[in-house]
Amino acid sequence: MSKKLDLSIIIPVYNEEENVIKLYQEITKSISLLSLTYEIIFIDDGSTDGTFEKLRTINDKHLRILQFQRNYGKAAALSCGFKEAEGKYIITMDGDLQDDPKEIPIFLMNLKHYDMVSGWKFQRKDPVSKRFFSNIFNKLTQVLTGIKIHDFNCGYKGYRSYVVQNIHVYAEFHRYIPVLAHWKGYTIGEIKVDHRPRMYGKSKYGIERILKGFLDLITITFLVSYKKRPLHIFGSMGFFLCFSGMVICAYLFYLWLTGIKIGERPLLMLGILFIIIGVQFISLGLIGELVTNTKNNDDYIIKYDSSKPEMDF
Ligand code: UDP
Ligand code: MG
Repeated sequence: MSKKLDLSIIIPVYNEEENVIKLYQEITKSISLLSLTYEIIFIDDGSTDGTFEKLRTINDKHLRILQFQRNYGKAAALSCGFKEAEGKYIITMDGDLQDDPKEIPIFLMNLKHYDMVSGWKFQRKDPVSKRFFSNIFNKLTQVLTGIKIHDFNCGYKGYRSYVVQNIHVYAEFHRYIPVLAHWKGYTIGEIKVDHRPRMYGKSKYGIERILKGFLDLITITFLVSYKKRPLHIFGSMGFFLCFSGMVICAYLFYLWLTGIKIGERPLLMLGILFIIIGVQFISLGLIGELVTNTKNNDDYIIKYDSSKPEMDF
């Protein structure tokens, strides 16, 4: 589908009343140097301060404000922005002035070569505790997903529009957009971005996000690797357990044949337990197969179709 504008900037904001006007001004200054058609979309994620009122004072046809009924979270705000954006290129950034709009042209330059470009807060201006856990999180995600970027959770990112049309960002999966994009086969570039300290307002994410982030990492790894074949993971564990249980029972059976009593041996319990759990795992895998098969979710993307006009990238 051809897009009406060259660029859409999407900014999720939740209680950022001191930041929004300044951010809007900085973005406008940065983009006005480029001769582009553009829109700036602020998604007010249910702010309870004056964020919405501040945004409403701006009179600019490039500005679009969407206000959520309540606070649904950053992923929902981004997902809504992706749906509404009319730009051929899309840039997302945080609304707290930590990302510098001067870098918008650099993202656009890099989007000539990649489907998606992710920012890397090279010298992060956040508290030490946040940086520490963030480093662990990034390393772990790198190892588990095989994607070689340093900063998965940076809010400053650029996309070609077709990327965001083909990924489904929900719950708190905004942290894993590069994983979802990589999974679909899109190329990902990374650029170092300047990170400024938060001057006004508070960070919305505390220590509780670490646990949630790690649980989501398990989900995403599982979804990416085994969504289409649940029996492969549950089935292999099930077979391993069943096999171990059978070996144990065979050994005990041999002892029983030689006249040794086995009725009181804890090993017998273990053997039987392994077999029962193993059968359960295999059944779980089969139920998983049933679920994935009833849901008709095609996971392929057609890059070229001779019967349709070519995409203008
Ligand atoms: N945000 C949002 N909804 C939320 C939480 C955060 O739209 O429920 C926005 C927030 O206003 C900011 C961006 O997401 O523009 C990043 O949030 P924050 O700066 O608090 O995260 P951090 O930089 O501390 O990771
Ligand atoms: Mg921030």
